[in-house]
Amino acid sequence: LDDDGVAHDQHHDAVFHAPGEIRTNAGDPYSVFTYFWKKWQDREKPAPVPEPAPEDLADVSGEPLPSLAALGFEAPTADLPDAGTEAARERLEDFCAGDVFRYEDARDYPAEGATSRLSQDLKYGTIGIREVYERTEDAMARADGDDERDSVEEYQRQLAWREFYAQVLYFNPEVVTENYNEYEHPIEWREDDAELAAWKRGETGYPIVDAGMRQLREEAYMHNRVRMLAASFLTKDLMLDWREGYAHFRERLVDHETANDNGGWQWAASTGTDAQPYFRVFNPTTQGERYDADAEYITEYVPELRDVPAEKIHAWPDLDAAEREELAPDYPAPIVDHGERREEAIEMFERARGDD
Ligand SMILES: Cc1cc2nc3c(=O)[nH]c(=O)nc-3n(C[C@H](O)[C@H](O)[C@H](O)COP(=O)(O)OP(=O)(O)OC[C@H]3O[C@@H](n4cnc5c(N)ncnc54)[C@H](O)[C@@H]3O)c2cc1C
Repeated sequence: LDDDGVAHDQHHDAVFHAPGEIRTNAGDPYSVFTYFWKKWQDREKPAPVPEPAPEDLADVSGEPLPSLAALGFEAPTADLPDAGTEAARERLEDFCAGDVFRYEDARDYPAEGATSRLSQDLKYGTIGIREVYERTEDAMARADGDDERDSVEEYQRQLAWREFYAQVLYFNPEVVTENYNEYEHPIEWREDDAELAAWKRGETGYPIVDAGMRQLREEAYMHNRVRMLAASFLTKDLMLDWREGYAHFRERLVDHETANDNGGWQWAASTGTDAQPYFRVFNPTTQGERYDADAEYITEYVPELRDVPAEKIHAWPDLDAAEREELAPDYPAPIVDHGERREEAIEMFERARGDD
C-alpha cells in the first residue's frame, strides 16, 4: 500500500490487550485467569474506530471472489450461521437487547440459547472486540439492578478468557501439541478407535454428550457447557488423548480458534493452565439432569429419544437392557460405565503424577 501511495491506518481490534500487555507484577505472562481478569477489567478500553467515508476508500474492485469449488473445498453440509458483519451486528444487537441481562444464570443451559453466538465473528474479525465491548457497556448503563449488571459483567469476563488464552498460546506455542502442564510421567491415555468413533458420531449412550456431538456435526457449533462435557467424556470417561478430540473440534467447529479450542481441551483434560483438577470428573448423567432437566436440548439433536420421558433419558446409562430396548431401540447402550471409568481415570492421573 505504501508503494502504491495508498493511505492506511492500522488498529488492534481482534483483542483489546495484545499478548504481553497484561503481565504479573514480576513481569511474567499470566497463567491464572482470575488475576489476569482483574487487570483486564481495569485497563482503558479503546473505542471503536469510525468507519472511513466511502469516498475515502481506495478503489480495490477487481476479480470476483472465487467459489469454494474453485478453491478446492466442498460446500459445507452443516447448517451455519449467516456470515458477515451485518449478520454479526444483528446477533450482537439481539443479544444486548435481552439475553445479556440473564446471561449469568442462563448461559449454562444449552436449551436456553442465551449466549451471544458471536464466536465465529470474533474469530474471523467480522466484528471487532471494541464494538462488542462498547455495546455491552451500553447494556451495562441500561441494566436494572445488581443481577443484570453482574450478568453483563459475566459476559465481559468471557471476552477476557479469550484474551487470556490468546496470551497463553502466544507465550507457549507448544501447547498446540504438548500438555501445558507436564506431569512427572507421561499420561497413559488409552487407544480405542471404536470408542473414539462412537464419540465422534454421538453414539456413546450418554445422551447429553451425544446431543453435543450431533450439534457439532449438524451446526459446526456446540454449546459451551456441552463442549466441556464432551471434552471431559473423551478424556476422563474414554481416557483418550485430548489431542484426538482437539483435532476433531478443529476440523468441525465454525468458530475454531486455536487458542480457545486448545485452552478448552487442555482445561477439560486437566493438562492446561488454570485447568479442571484431575480428580474432578464431570458426571454426564447429573450434568444432563441439572443443565437440561426437561431434555429439551437432548431431544432436539437425538431424535431416537424424542418419545422417551426426560427422567428415563437421564437415567439411560442405568436402565436395564430390556427397558432401553422398549423405550428407544435405535439409541445405543452406554459404551462405558461412568463410575468405573472415573476411578480408572483418576488412577491414570495419579500414576502420571507419580503418586503412590
Ligand atoms: C473443549 C472446548 C473447545 C472450545 N473451542 C473453542 C473454539 O474453537 N473457539 C472459540 O471461540 N471458543 C471455544 N470454546 C469456548 C466456548 O465454548 C465458545 O467460545 C462459546 O461456546 C461460543 O459461543 P458464544 O459465542 O455464544 O459464547 P458466549 O457465551 O456468548 O461468549 C462470548 C464470547 O466470549 C468468548 N468465550 C466464551 N467462552 C470462552 C472460553 N471458555 N474460552 C475462551 N473464549 C471464550 C468467545 O469469543 C465467545 O464468542 C471452547 C470450549 C471448550 C470447553
